[in-house]
Amino acid sequence: MHEVSIALGMVDELTRIAHENNAKKVTLIKLKIGKMSGIVTDSLKFAFDAIKLEHPLLLSAEILINEVPLIYKCNECNNSFETDDIYFPPCSKCESYNLEVISGQEQDIENVELEV
Ligand SMILES: [Zn+2]
Repeated sequence: MHEVSIALGMVDELTRIAHENNAKKVTLIKLKIGKMSGIVTDSLKFAFDAIKLEHPLLLSAEILINEVPLIYKCNECNNSFETDDIYFPPCSKCESYNLEVISGQEQDIENVELEV
């Protein structure tokens, strides 16, 4: 499962942040996950909650996921539109396929709260 490797990567990153700040534990993690990132947020939460049991630093960490909508901008008419279609739909205004992704590919740790 894709989400397990992402959760493992997060654990490494969080452990590093906690050590850098001499924190006793991580209490809250805010994530930014784009709809187009291919991550199933429920699976990611599930994977993280399982992995954190082996890491005392993360044991009481709660995970909050901010899902970022998928937004395209049309290079022909400058129209921006939100959609659930990850396979480059036509522009909602002029039907051009000359589009770029403005948001929806995020896969970031937005904020971490620590107990020092
Ligand atoms: Zn357009």
